[in-house]
Amino acid sequence: MTATVIDGKAIAAETRAQVAVEVARLSRDHRVVPGLAVVLVGNNPASEVYVGSKKKMTVEAGMKSFDHHLPEQVSEAELLALIARLNADPAVNGILVQLPLPQQIDAQKVLNAIDPGKDVDGFHPLNAGRLATGLPALVPCTPLGCIILAKSVRQSLAGLDAVVVGRSNIVGKPLAALLIGESATVTVAHSKTRDLPEVCRRADLLFAAVGRPEMVKGDWVKPGATVIDVGINRVPSATPGKTRIVGDVDYAGAAERAGAITPVPGGVGPMTIACLLVNTVRAACAAHGLPAPAV
Ligand code: NDP
Repeated sequence: MTATVIDGKAIAAETRAQVAVEVARLSRDHRVVPGLAVVLVGNNPASEVYVGSKKKMTVEAGMKSFDHHLPEQVSEAELLALIARLNADPAVNGILVQLPLPQQIDAQKVLNAIDPGKDVDGFHPLNAGRLATGLPALVPCTPLGCIILAKSVRQSLAGLDAVVVGRSNIVGKPLAALLIGESATVTVAHSKTRDLPEVCRRADLLFAAVGRPEMVKGDWVKPGATVIDVGINRVPSATPGKTRIVGDVDYAGAAERAGAITPVPGGVGPMTIACLLVNTVRAACAAHGLPAPAV
């Protein structure tokens, strides 16, 4: 069997186009233009690339992008003061603080300071608690993208055995909560899990969010399973001095057994930014007392 490749780039482009339609409608019918503030601290090259793409796609979707680039040495108090200003600014519907933050700053304290209604990353404990209890919430972007990708090849996730490898607050746990919401039967595996290959072989839906290059092998995959690979790992390439990106799944091996699989790059990665835009337009509607958008 050769798996269907789930084209995250194309699905993300579709999602962004749906966001653009909703933004145009909001602006035409309600004179509301959603705005996203992106806060970058320091000069981490990977963070600069992510922030650059986020800004470009925000503007392409017709929304306003507000940039705040702070120096590496900025104090926690200064960053918290900026968050307070953004919380109070009615033009700002979403606030994203790019992680990681430098060590003089307590990242959780900063995330907790963001107005939960503007928390488009979905990392505030209030949104995490709302998600866990099945209430409407702003949901972390990467897990939201994973669900959209899984549903692109499965009409319904109800009753399916889902295995999530990884239990981080930004991917594994919220993904498990979303899958419970979809009525899947969910197992969350982690570094203490016994016989991980056997646990994975039970999965109709296998999600890998581990951060270990190609750890999930082809023979861990149940024939016909849907495999969603969240991993982004930089490894040495065949050309000396160069690197390449691989996922947490051995793609070639898994593609021989899976029914459908996401590539890396071009799978979950593009969905993360698309879902950030979805969250921003949802936050803007909620802030103006308007019904939730159609995306
Ligand atoms: P974390 O490091 O926070 O969490 C990794 C999880 O994997 C932990 O729960 C850990 O278990 C588990 N784990 C580690 N080693 C093993 C092992 N040998 N067997 C089983 N489980 C193991 O990572 P993140 O959740 O932040 O990210 C995971 C991956 O997803 C990374 O590659 C990251 O780059 C990528 N990522 C991609 C995004 C995208 O946009 N596509 C966005 C966010 C992340 P334990 O809790 O026991 O330590």
